[in-house]
Amino acid sequence: METVPTSPLQRAQGDLMRGIGKVLFTEAEIRRRVAELGEQISSDYAGLDPLLVGVLKGVAFFMSDLLRAITIPVRMDFMAISRYAPGQGKGPVRLVKDLDQPVEGQHLIFVEDVVDTGLTLGYLLRTLRARGPASLEVCALFDKTEHRLAKVPIKYRGFDLPDRFVVGYGLDYREEYRHLPFVGELRPEVLGLA
Ligand code: 5GP
Repeated sequence: METVPTSPLQRAQGDLMRGIGKVLFTEAEIRRRVAELGEQISSDYAGLDPLLVGVLKGVAFFMSDLLRAITIPVRMDFMAISRYAPGQGKGPVRLVKDLDQPVEGQHLIFVEDVVDTGLTLGYLLRTLRARGPASLEVCALFDKTEHRLAKVPIKYRGFDLPDRFVVGYGLDYREEYRHLPFVGELRPEVLGLA
């Protein structure tokens, strides 16, 4: 039976749902996994006041939920990047917004939404390492290993992801779909592949 949307949010989500082929991770599954990651980080970093660092904008949702799942003192900061070759997902990146604070001597956790080739993460880790943090680890919500080109150390991993383009929970396709509470696969015709 079809559910009848009752609020503007549900109606907007209903429209976007037409582009989704399959839900891969439900809101509840994501919530549970993020809580586990928060618990693990809280225990590993007790007494270390870690600084969580992320790249806008995709990771904003994961970052804010992860931050709230951490039960020790913790801070967050963001960078923004742009690609040298606009319109292409891959390729070298350039920092367009740096962190607000120096990170020397700090315990950094780099928080990432999806690690695919690992090139973006590799570049950003090199940039951060050069600033002399006390430690630097990676927490990635999704690990997509099929096209990995750069060896990147992921200490905290949410889920393994098949080689699919996914949206929702902060992840976009042309700036849409970010506000879906779950993560789903886009239909090939939306991506122009069918
Ligand atoms: P990498 O440099 O590892 O190839 O690319 C990582 C970045 O590509 C992620 O931070 C994310 O912005 C984007 N990305 C990779 N896979 C996906 C995906 O399935 N969906 C979305 N929305 N973005 C993705």
